[in-house]
Amino acid sequence: MTSHASMRADVQSLAAGVKGFLSTMEGLQLFHLALAAAQLGPCVEIGSYCGKSALFLGEACRIAGRAALFSIDHHRGSEEQQRGAEYFDADLFDARRARVDTLPHFLENVCRAGLEDWVIPVVGRSTQVARSWPGAQIGLVFIDGGHSQQDVDADYRAWSPWIVSGGFLCFHDVYPDPADGGQAPYLTFLEAQAADRWRTIGIFESLGVLQRR
Ligand code: MG
Repeated sequence: MTSHASMRADVQSLAAGVKGFLSTMEGLQLFHLALAAAQLGPCVEIGSYCGKSALFLGEACRIAGRAALFSIDHHRGSEEQQRGAEYFDADLFDARRARVDTLPHFLENVCRAGLEDWVIPVVGRSTQVARSWPGAQIGLVFIDGGHSQQDVDADYRAWSPWIVSGGFLCFHDVYPDPADGGQAPYLTFLEAQAADRWRTIGIFESLGVLQRR
């Protein structure tokens, strides 16, 4: 078992400096889940952004030495990351094409972490990718894409059926208290929790974790 393995210190500090909305504690939680999950099948994340979570998940895949991480994003930013919106970041705006483009930042961070063999970028809409998923059982799904109720539900319905028994379903931005943030991931997390095929592992900061029975 590799469950006591730890991240390379330089990769952890690189991840800490990557733009994103995941805390180091949440990242390390994902890392430890993925160490076990990558023995069962590939990991999939929805919402790559600049690669912060991909470094934690990809590092776990590298250490496990079997399956890789598929990191899915259209790389054009979510609604709240567009120009004029709350989470717009001018550094991520491609002026020539007049749109947000996080892909170069993502690729550079994965390269700097030495994880190009373990993090496979998939550029596209997550539900569209799911439609063509070739049927491989997945060890871990991390849902952190669009945060509207429709988007979170669609990602849950598209991807969770592929998770193997013993594998993990993780949601980011799970806030039981509406004062802390949007409710869509939390509501979908509750819905999954109510389905008897999932066992609750817990909520770590805002990372909700379930395990397939
Ligand atoms: Mg998030």
